[in-house]
Amino acid sequence: MTLVMKFGGTSVGSASAMRSTAELILTYREQFGNVVVIASGMGTKPIKVTDLLLGGANAAADGDTDTYRQNGALLRDINAATIRELLTTEQKAIIAENDAMIGRFENICQAVSYLGELSPRALDAVGGLGEQMSVPIVAALLREMGHDAEAIDATELIVTDSHHTNAAPDFAATQTKAAARLRPILDRGGIPIVTGFIAADADGVTTTLGRGGSDYSASIIGQVLGADEVWIWTDVDGVMTTDPRIVDNAQSIPTLTFREVSELAYYGAKVLHPKTMRPCVEGNIPLRIKNTFNPDHPGTVIMEHAAASHGAIKAVTAIRDLRLITVEGKGMMGVPGVAARTFSAVADADINVLLITQASSEQSICFATSAGTTESTLNALETEFVDELKNRDIDRIWAMNPVSIVTIVGAGMRGTAGISGRVFTALHSINIIAIAQGSSECSISIVVDDHDASPAIKLLHDLIVTQ
Ligand code: ADP
Ligand code: ASP
Ligand code: MG
Repeated sequence: MTLVMKFGGTSVGSASAMRSTAELILTYREQFGNVVVIASGMGTKPIKVTDLLLGGANAAADGDTDTYRQNGALLRDINAATIRELLTTEQKAIIAENDAMIGRFENICQAVSYLGELSPRALDAVGGLGEQMSVPIVAALLREMGHDAEAIDATELIVTDSHHTNAAPDFAATQTKAAARLRPILDRGGIPIVTGFIAADADGVTTTLGRGGSDYSASIIGQVLGADEVWIWTDVDGVMTTDPRIVDNAQSIPTLTFREVSELAYYGAKVLHPKTMRPCVEGNIPLRIKNTFNPDHPGTVIMEHAAASHGAIKAVTAIRDLRLITVEGKGMMGVPGVAARTFSAVADADINVLLITQASSEQSICFATSAGTTESTLNALETEFVDELKNRDIDRIWAMNPVSIVTIVGAGMRGTAGISGRVFTALHSINIIAIAQGSSECSISIVVDDHDASPAIKLLHDLIVTQ
């Protein structure tokens, strides 16, 4: 049996967390026989190594040469202290290896500050260093505990396209590479410890799978190895009814379907990267989310079919700080293909649309995008509709101030009468700007002003716990 286990930032965020992680790896290797470990960069809250690295590089691009130096010094301190606490025989070697990575970070940032420009390729080279520093520590710890563990850079395993900062895997190429590299280690009884988040394109240049992408790394490796299960170890008891940082009485959900958890992750539940589920669905591999700091808790199991155990609505989530872009005009009805042209102009500008609504009169189309892309979205649309704006067929293309999408999820909502009625009654004190229901009836999304997001989440969460 083969188990792929991914340990998130907090699970490797301190010497004691790394020790617990090592114990868990050994416990489940006993049970499954073969274990492949994927690890994130260290993430001791509130300091996340990936944020320190990317923050330093972004500041350098703006001409700030202090931040990356400070972050480099901080990383040296954190890493050396952790390594000293954990390792003896390999202590010197691993500190030197980590220092070399930090040196590389500083050199890239220095070059970026000279050039005043930070390319996506350089961002990936910097962003992946967190995983390249943490993985050798975990592997060395297991070796010092008397086990055969090998640190592996995922650039040797996962092949992607060259879409830096959000690369897409080539599964066939990855299967060949990963099997050739990992199978011999497993066959000799060893434990591969692999960097999450990073990969390489066909030319061997480092890419990353998007922020939070270590979860995806685990399911990619799970699929190409034909693993029996993929487990994600984090700092909460599985997927919860809502973000436990927002609502105190959030509860762990025992079972979810792939569809439900995909909707949750897509609409902002940070506990899983939204792309994680697809390789598991395709490989028919159960996915489990567990808490490194409470390993006896069963966590959440995600499968193709799961019980509607929590009633019809299982969870509520939100994405904040979005902009609602509206294209409106009384003459739009007569203009052919407004919707098609709107979305192809937006797609050509590489802008991700999170939710769409259209009034039936066709007098307006409205969609949500992230705040950072507002200007480029408006520019793309003004260029596309330059003639219609001149003729006043389209009156306005504009962006509404910060909004959030609040989404409720549950496959059991389909066929349960009165869900919408209960949702809108619960939200009677909140101004609802737009509504969208997925065609699968697995989710309902509501757009509200950013200030209303937390109250709306709390009201909807009360519905879940009392249903
Ligand atoms: P890791 O480094 O282990 O990947 P993340 O910070 O990426 O950890 O994800 C875990 C965090 O996701 C939790 O600490 C929690 O605050 C947050 N979170 C948001 N929504 C949910 C949810 N519905 N269920 C569980 N955790 C959630
Ligand atoms: N370390 C990476 C990030 O912070 C990947 C991950 O944590 O999954 O985005
Ligand atoms: Mg994560």
